[in-house]
Amino acid sequence: MQFERLVDYFERLENTSSRIEMIKILSELLKEASAGEAKKIVYLCQGKVLPDYEGLEIGIGEKFVEEAIATVSGNRKENVEKEYKKEGDLGLVAEKMLAKRKQKSLFSQKLSVDKVYDNLLKIAKSTGQKSQDVKIRLLSELLNSSTPREAKYIIRFPIGTLRLGIGDPTIMDALAEIYWKEHENDEDIKNRIKKEKYKDEEEFGRRVRSLLREKIEAKYNIHPDLGEIADIIKKYGIEGLEKIKIEHGIPIRPTLAERLSSSEDIIKKIGKCAIEAKYDGFRLQIHKKENNVIIFSRRLEKMTQMFPEIVKAVREEIKVKEVIFEGEALAYNENTKEFYPFQITIQRKRKYDIGKMSEEFPLKLFVFDVMFMEGKNVMGMPFKERRKIVEQITKGGKNIVATESIITESPRDIDKYFNECIERGLEGIVAKDLNAPYIAGARKFAWIKLKRSYRGELSDSVDVVIVGYFKGRGLRAKFGLGALLTAVYDKKEDCFKTIAKIGSGFKEEQIEELEKILSEIKIDKKPARVISRIEPDVWVEPKYVIEVVADEITKSPIHTAGMKKEEGLALRFPRMISFRRDKKPEDCTTVEEIERMYINQKVVNLTETEERIDGDLTV
Ligand code: AMP
Repeated sequence: MQFERLVDYFERLENTSSRIEMIKILSELLKEASAGEAKKIVYLCQGKVLPDYEGLEIGIGEKFVEEAIATVSGNRKENVEKEYKKEGDLGLVAEKMLAKRKQKSLFSQKLSVDKVYDNLLKIAKSTGQKSQDVKIRLLSELLNSSTPREAKYIIRFPIGTLRLGIGDPTIMDALAEIYWKEHENDEDIKNRIKKEKYKDEEEFGRRVRSLLREKIEAKYNIHPDLGEIADIIKKYGIEGLEKIKIEHGIPIRPTLAERLSSSEDIIKKIGKCAIEAKYDGFRLQIHKKENNVIIFSRRLEKMTQMFPEIVKAVREEIKVKEVIFEGEALAYNENTKEFYPFQITIQRKRKYDIGKMSEEFPLKLFVFDVMFMEGKNVMGMPFKERRKIVEQITKGGKNIVATESIITESPRDIDKYFNECIERGLEGIVAKDLNAPYIAGARKFAWIKLKRSYRGELSDSVDVVIVGYFKGRGLRAKFGLGALLTAVYDKKEDCFKTIAKIGSGFKEEQIEELEKILSEIKIDKKPARVISRIEPDVWVEPKYVIEVVADEITKSPIHTAGMKKEEGLALRFPRMISFRRDKKPEDCTTVEEIERMYINQKVVNLTETEERIDGDLTV
């Protein structure tokens, strides 16, 4: 495919704010692409060249990009800088300047998607002393052959401003859209849905698409690389998905914890269960194959280098040949047998002094689950069986141990255990359904967390994503930032719905940082996946997640989270606590969670009132 053709699609994608339309355009694009191209196109649409877990960025410093634009367009660098100040978008600057270019280079040729992808991949992979020069040469080579329109997009890759707003769910929906017609008569689909039950073809089609999408997502959850998944489907059809198995070095999407606000609710929901201590550290997914150890963070980024003492401990203490397991790592004082405060553990996020820190405050790993063991996928086993494996592989371990846990069906036991955990400086407890499989990438009451803050009058903190901001007024005018417009994630619709305007709780340094990072991701119109009735002064790409506390959740006619009959939900008196850099936008609190928190909060208030009334009556 010519790159020019891909640019046509980019423009169409950029110009729509409807997700359904986006899925349609993407499916047309992927249908048109050849098998080899589809993989590259999936990555390119998301502004990357490899799946996220490879942690590879195309990045070139802005100054160098300006230099490349200057050279290729025959302008002085100062002119490029001036234009950039005016336009605020280097892509547009490149388009403008290349349009005025006197003559095209002798060597220019029409760009193909393959060529653009290959050069971007080389740019991303080049490291070392001379790498900046190599990167500029590769970028200039592309610019030399590109039309102004193509240049606009090419520039956006290395500086990270290609924001088409295409999330992974949208790509999966597009793949299902392409293939559903040829699968409506598949045996397993026919077994699950009876065509005659559906009102019309459209409703039936929707159901088949959602089943196909489920199939794709199941593989994505154990192999989060949609480029490769698209490649396999293009080459071998949906049947080809069977080839995808758990692999050493490819992360599994983590299971997530639901929340409930009391031990009674937990027992009502899942009955007799395991109650584990909830440790507050880093969630690590560890892959071991012989001596080869790879560590992924909660966001599925490769972090092996950051935790040398864990790598060593895995080699020494985990005796099985091949295993994938998960646990929470935190700084632990072996002398006093106490946990260090979270502030100490968190220091390990620094990229320097890793060796020194790992000696001074070595991390201890508390293992809570296992997904793969000696060549076998064990995710489908009930938790109680997987727990046996966890105990087996950690037996006799010193730095790697199983989480502490009890099994009970009594709310009183849970409360007692919970209080013990809190007293010991832990965060609370996580209840585990004894019969549940490991549910990759989802939150389905297999795990239920109970943290201290739920038990007060107020509910837990909430993680929201920033989608825009209002400029500072009054005292704040000296800052550019007055308040943030924030949203939560609607998983079903793969979009972000607003929940709060946050104007307080910021520390001065947080404001400075917010101003800096938000100005880098400004966009000039509402992002396609944001659903809002409020128009902030500036829209930003949904990227940064922050943790906030609030007094309560109230109904709101202006916020769109959980909107029913013109009434949404909003946070009352929200205050920012911290950045949640470990969370991607899609990992923030969901609309469903907010709806549940809203209901639970009412229940809590009600019982309190009832108790008071009861008390009054007996007096
Ligand atoms: P939260 O980050 O508040 O949504 O809580 C879920 C997180 O608790 C998981 O992602 C783990 O990192 C962490 N965690 C700590 N202890 C446990 C445990 N025993 N079982 C499962 N998750 C745990």
